[in-house]
Amino acid sequence: MIDLERLSPMDVAARASRLQAALADAGCDALLVTKLVNIRYLTGFTGSAALLLVRPDDLLFVSDGRYGEQAAQQLEQAGVVARIEISGTAQREILAAAAAGTSRLGLEADDVTWAAQRRYADEWFPASTLVPTDGLVDGFRLVKDDGEVARIEAAAHVADQALANVRHRLGERPTEEEFGLELDTEMRRLGATGTSFETIVASGPNGAKPHHRPGPRTIVEGDLVVVDFGALVDGYCSDMTRTVMVGQPDADQQRMLDVVAASQAAGVAAVGPDVAARAVDEACRAVIDEAGWGDAFLHGTGHGVGLEIHEAPRVSRVSDATLAVGHVVTVEPGVYLPEHGGVRVEDTVVVTPNGCRTLTLAPKDPVLR
Ligand code: ZN
Ligand code: ZN
Repeated sequence: MIDLERLSPMDVAARASRLQAALADAGCDALLVTKLVNIRYLTGFTGSAALLLVRPDDLLFVSDGRYGEQAAQQLEQAGVVARIEISGTAQREILAAAAAGTSRLGLEADDVTWAAQRRYADEWFPASTLVPTDGLVDGFRLVKDDGEVARIEAAAHVADQALANVRHRLGERPTEEEFGLELDTEMRRLGATGTSFETIVASGPNGAKPHHRPGPRTIVEGDLVVVDFGALVDGYCSDMTRTVMVGQPDADQQRMLDVVAASQAAGVAAVGPDVAARAVDEACRAVIDEAGWGDAFLHGTGHGVGLEIHEAPRVSRVSDATLAVGHVVTVEPGVYLPEHGGVRVEDTVVVTPNGCRTLTLAPKDPVLR
């Protein structure tokens, strides 16, 4: 099991203060946070229903009867000072009253449905001007503090260890589903609270589909097997891909393994502060282009990882993000050829002042002997 007390602490309470200081620049007098993962980030609350009204000088946390005790406990544990209101039916009145003096009320544009927006405008906050904000809280989440990195790293260690424990099973003709289940179970046994996303086990021809779901296919000698998976620790995700060769690779498979390994290493070497995320993608792509497989690299190079498995910044050709110390991103180039299968290698790295540090440490030697 993982002792969270031994990991660097997270200063959750400071997050809301930073957000409060940024409200005016975002063009609003208050922000209604509706995205649950952002509420978790700002308050430590892990339940499945809540709203958080962030005003310049205070916080109003609203949830329903299922979460009264949990909310009080978790906010206190995180050191967050907020007025907590628990109600099944009067949430609108409570929030409307609190927002009564707010002329410009921010909403999280990427989380509020059209129906909710109309309800907020017509019924909840008719006296306020509603302001769509774009990635306001998500922007603060880009830079991870030591406590967050420690949690992602703990999740990565669980995944490393789980793969080490079950990897040999790939040589014993399991189905993709069976192997995926064993890997998931092993991560839970080692202290993960869950998987950070649905584990991918893609063998043989299925490997040519980057996001293949594990199926009934039996893994056999001669297969490349793409295994993409992650653990969840205290809400934080890890993400790693290893490609395992069952038996000896033929010449084409060996070349795919070599090219992707070189591409992935070039990508990791390119990561650093003040580097355009696009340049990391270019570094990976150049190696694969050079090998003549540019068209077989079917996706972007990577993504941010944190409370969500896919979050900002994107690492792709179209990304306009610039990496900074504390960003956590994946580097995961791949080559997918229908006649040979797929190869992908993925690490999660944290940007440091001198470059980056890799958090996913499972060995990359592909051959299962
Ligand atoms: Zn992955
Ligand atoms: Zn990934």
